[in-house]
Amino acid sequence: MSFVDGLQARDAITDNAVENDWQIHFKRANKKQFEAACHDPCAWFCSGSLVSKNGVVVIKKSDDVHTCPRAVRNKLVTSTWIASKYLHVFRLHPSMSCKDLGRDLMQRYAFDATKCRLYHAKRKAIDMLVDTVEEHYAKLSSYTLEFCRSDREGRFELHVDVGAVFNAMYIGFSGLKKGFMEGCRRVIGLDGAFPKTYLGGILLSAVGTDGNNQMYPIAWVVVEVEMSFVGGLENAVKEIISMAEHINCARNIYANWKKTHKGPALKQLFWKLLRSTYMQEYVGACRELEKEDG
Ligand SMILES: [Zn+2]
Repeated sequence: MSFVDGLQARDAITDNAVENDWQIHFKRANKKQFEAACHDPCAWFCSGSLVSKNGVVVIKKSDDVHTCPRAVRNKLVTSTWIASKYLHVFRLHPSMSCKDLGRDLMQRYAFDATKCRLYHAKRKAIDMLVDTVEEHYAKLSSYTLEFCRSDREGRFELHVDVGAVFNAMYIGFSGLKKGFMEGCRRVIGLDGAFPKTYLGGILLSAVGTDGNNQMYPIAWVVVEVEMSFVGGLENAVKEIISMAEHINCARNIYANWKKTHKGPALKQLFWKLLRSTYMQEYVGACRELEKEDG
């Protein structure tokens, strides 16, 4: 078995020890070599070093039989280790509670972590994510310039506030625009999504419908604005393209309507109303809905 460096070998051996409840320790671990051993009287050990010919670290000596009992509270499970293992989970669910983290840790690794350790692990994971995101934001300028260079007919804009703080970014590829003009129905859907992370902001997108009745992305923008802006978007579009027909997404209408009109019966009647294809059916569905809604 080979590793990129000694640190990768250390991480892999640590993961394996945690999963099997072995309380091992590292005598040394750096990029070129590593040496791990178990506590007395267990004779398990594992060591490896860099093979200059291949440029990888390989295991050179090992005794992979443990004679030690299970470690109840493995000291290898530090807050840093937990943070690194749950980084992808916090990326998707940054508001995950320490209680849920502890429960998952118990299920996966049979480890009962203290509240303090869970709190520190969560803090470290969020800090790691913020650092990563800041690095990504720092690349946006060159990212936009590269788009401008490679797609001269497209439109790409990056807006920043005072102090180089991100404000908005617009992406519109010329290929997508051309595809929409030449092969799509003349329908543009506008939608806004609110990322539920510490980043905040709004992702606004314009989509069309292609020949297969599938969604076709036209352009999108990420903005740091308030809700009132999104509310005014519809009016702005009506003003600019006043000749076009405007309709609203039924799912969005229902999502707002159901806040005050709850229940499966009303939901069924709502969709029946929307699916009516002739006037008499529509009027009948309206009456049914009024009767049910009281
Ligand atoms: Zn052992």
